[in-house]
Amino acid sequence: MNLRKSFFAAVAVAASAFSVSALAQETHTLTLAQTWGPNSPILGETTEHFADMVESMSDGRLKVRVDASNKHKAPFGIFDLVRTGQYDMGHTASYYYKGTIPNAMYFTTIPFGLIAPEMYAWFYHGGGMELMQKVYEPYGVLSFPGGNTGNQMGGWFRKEINSVEDLQGLKMRTPGFAGEVMSELGVAVTNIPPGELYSALERGTIDALEWVAPALDFPMGFHQIAKYYYSGWQEPGAEVQFLINNKTWNKLPADLQEILRVAMRTAAYDMYIQSVHESSVAWNKMKEDYPDVTHKVFPPEVIDALRETTDRLLEEAAAKDPLAKEIITSQRDYLKQVRPWINISDKAYLNSVAGE
Ligand code: CA
Repeated sequence: MNLRKSFFAAVAVAASAFSVSALAQETHTLTLAQTWGPNSPILGETTEHFADMVESMSDGRLKVRVDASNKHKAPFGIFDLVRTGQYDMGHTASYYYKGTIPNAMYFTTIPFGLIAPEMYAWFYHGGGMELMQKVYEPYGVLSFPGGNTGNQMGGWFRKEINSVEDLQGLKMRTPGFAGEVMSELGVAVTNIPPGELYSALERGTIDALEWVAPALDFPMGFHQIAKYYYSGWQEPGAEVQFLINNKTWNKLPADLQEILRVAMRTAAYDMYIQSVHESSVAWNKMKEDYPDVTHKVFPPEVIDALRETTDRLLEEAAAKDPLAKEIITSQRDYLKQVRPWINISDKAYLNSVAGE
């Protein structure tokens, strides 16, 4: 036996045992930039809840420091902050980046597409996660579902929309693919950071806006200015997202990666159910406190025009870019698969069984 060799082998084993235990003790603090402002209901609570879970599950070995938009000053620049490594993580909506990473927007929502449970089913069982990673991989970023708002409202309007002509020249805040559709129908579309929406509507910089749903709309006060509240078509199950810089991810030991994965998935689910609960509370209160707020649905003529334009723009996007085609086709195929079941279960129940 070569004594010298076994001696060095023993030293190597001891050293590696030491480094494993040192690694297990090592603490990491990740920085997270979010689109949302400080104390932002539901959206901001999601990242706080996520950070708390990460710290307690890791027994303090992994911490997340959350910076709201007043700190980093780039509410719509989260993707760049994470891509360049200025922040380890982000919490945002992928459709804010349609200028820099156009194929990402389909992972928030597609108009006339999947509702929240169908969207999650697509992400986790229908190939959505793999496609999302394919889009983000070239930028050195990982993306995970970060919470669903549930079905979003079509928005707040000062005037009724009775025809497609009523959309002509309307100045409206609506981001993502829906903004492109609206723009094709003559709407002057703009995106405005959340903190400036109320004053933009009040001053008449915009005539209409869509934000989310009662839980998040009510605290913004839009109902004090615009009285018509329309049901949606544009974001049937909008998913926000967590972003992580790939280098940050790779530096973490496997157990902390798993803790992040579980905490992101749990925070996302909790955001969805919190949204359902709080919108129900907010809508009941709104009906009581502001009886002049009128709920509306867009007339069939407007819905038809929106749907035709959506289909045409999706066809165009698919024809220009093979990856866009892959994502759009995947979501459409999944909708064809999942919707017949939703129709004979949830939809039939709500239409014919449940009543009020
Ligand atoms: Ca929205």
